[in-house]
Amino acid sequence: MNIRNNLNNLRQTLPDGCRLIAVSKTQPAEAIQEAYVAGQRLFGENKAQELVAKYETLPKDIEWHMIGHLQSNKVKYLAPFVHLIHSVDSFKLLEEINKQGVRCKRKISCLLQVHIATEETKFGFSADELKELITSGKIGALQSIEVVGLMGMASFTDDKTLIRKEFQQLRELFDSLKVAELPHNVHMRELSMGMSGDYPIAIEEGSTMIRVGTAIFGNRHYNQPQ
Ligand SMILES: *Cc1c(COP(=O)(O)O)cnc(C)c1O
Repeated sequence: MNIRNNLNNLRQTLPDGCRLIAVSKTQPAEAIQEAYVAGQRLFGENKAQELVAKYETLPKDIEWHMIGHLQSNKVKYLAPFVHLIHSVDSFKLLEEINKQGVRCKRKISCLLQVHIATEETKFGFSADELKELITSGKIGALQSIEVVGLMGMASFTDDKTLIRKEFQQLRELFDSLKVAELPHNVHMRELSMGMSGDYPIAIEEGSTMIRVGTAIFGNRHYNQPQ
């Protein structure tokens, strides 16, 4: 794998207003360092412990993005430094992030994860649950968080029409919320969608952040100590 070439090729396809999160889960620190030297500063991880361990050993100007399902009891480890939590899938989690934000005296940026795929297993709010939460006023009471947009994962399929339809649904929800009356700490700026297999479609459908792992780093190393 030539990480530098992969990054450069990807960057050439990125339109203005769309950023690349390099998903480094299971990859060793050396691979991240290689991407860092090639200019990459935004990295995504899906496990709290692994993210913290990498934060501690790698350069401090890296922006760390939490992209995987997050248990409430792990929020405290990320709260001091995490740049953006993409995977907020319950109000309870949002409350815990707020509590830890208060403790660390920082406002923590979050995306609300929306379930757009056909698979049952993917986490996230339904469109209706999301609208209900946002209009309920419950988020406005949380002083140490800022919701900056939405995140979604399309179905794992070769059916490009279905993938596009799912991204379009998310985009339409995002656009409808953009013009809605929102709590003071909710702003629809970021739309996190697109992975190695489907990021070109996500970009066409308006993604502002693609989360790409294997197309940069190659296969994941699940057997490595983490
Ligand atoms: C692993 C992961 C990615 C990256 O997947 P690739 O197919 O390797 O690009 C993106 N988003 C989430 C939420 C992930 O868990």
